[in-house]
Amino acid sequence: MYIKPGAMLGLLGGGQLGRMFVMAAQQMGYRVTVLDPATESPAGSVAERHLQADYLDEQALDELKSTCAAVTIEFENVPARALRYLAEHCIVSPGAESVSIAQNRILEKQFLAENNFPIGPFTVIRDEQDISRIDTSLIPGILKASQFGYDGKGQISVDDAGSLPEAFSKLGNKPCVLEKRLPLDREISVILARDNLNQIALFPVPENRHEQGILDMSIVPAALPDEIIGKARTIAQQIAIRLNYIGVLCVEFFVLADGKVLVNEIAPRPHNSGHYSLNACITSQFEQQVRVLCGLPHGSTQLIQAAVMTNILGDLWKNGDPDWSLILGNPQAKLHLYGKHEAKPGRKMGHFTVLADTVEQAMQQSTQIRSALRR
Ligand code: ADP
Ligand code: MG
Repeated sequence: MYIKPGAMLGLLGGGQLGRMFVMAAQQMGYRVTVLDPATESPAGSVAERHLQADYLDEQALDELKSTCAAVTIEFENVPARALRYLAEHCIVSPGAESVSIAQNRILEKQFLAENNFPIGPFTVIRDEQDISRIDTSLIPGILKASQFGYDGKGQISVDDAGSLPEAFSKLGNKPCVLEKRLPLDREISVILARDNLNQIALFPVPENRHEQGILDMSIVPAALPDEIIGKARTIAQQIAIRLNYIGVLCVEFFVLADGKVLVNEIAPRPHNSGHYSLNACITSQFEQQVRVLCGLPHGSTQLIQAAVMTNILGDLWKNGDPDWSLILGNPQAKLHLYGKHEAKPGRKMGHFTVLADTVEQAMQQSTQIRSALRR
């Protein structure tokens, strides 16, 4: 039994990840209803239907429940309650339990620690008293709000213990985790899909380079020893199994100079570092999300060519529209724009992917385009 093309699928969230899910679903003949509170959104503007309502709006949830064969999410801050409610009447993946863990850094860290997954030193800070008790070996560290952080937002670098109270108050005196700042050698991510027959499909592992906490480039395949890649893949699969996870999942990793592989965080959805798969793999992470949701077998995740994906942030609009010919004029480059009307610094407006026979060639062309765009 599988959900046949022509059926209506539901999506909670209207961002760019949702837009790319909608496009993948539509390519296969499915229709999509997006639930998102904003009047206009990247996913809402391409979907067959857009329900503009809060995620907990009962009428909207009832509408989804009765018109959609299955529902998925495109961002993790959907209230778990909404997922539980929908799951009473239709297929929902990923499930409320795994989403509620991944959307809260405290629960996520506790889950990882309890299950002996390797993570860096951290502590939970809920109030001023917790601050006075911290282990100073965590400093210099990074204070991260437990909820609603993304792209480095909701995080403050803390160089000495004396500045913790101020950082805590800047983050709204809300529950946080304090992580020791680690000497990162590299960052990689494992994107996988797990279906309801417990079959796991792993995507090729990218190396991710960040600028000011925001993903800048993903380089595929990551040039790291097989042993390190293998460790990360094993951990990511075990996480998916432990979470009883069904859907597309991304686990971000830190790789330290001594070869240690530590889990950074879990995203219960396709991930920015998997956008390369749209052009470089036989099946993209978004098609895989549609396949899992609809009960179809996994598509091949085989890499067709080496690829470098570069994010296009709103900063590029400082002197008007960027010169798109720099990307469109390159026969090896693929431009993706998310249909956002307002460009703000740090806002993800789109990305481009350069494909080549070798990573070095893809990297060389990408950096050339990237610096020309920034001029
Ligand atoms: P986000 O939800 O914004 O992706 P992350 O926790 O993944 O938040 O942090 C964003 C980036 O900041 C990471 O990819 C990494 O480059 C850097 N970073 C985060 N935590 C640490 C840490 N403990 N040590 C060193 N760098 C870190
Ligand atoms: Mg991250």
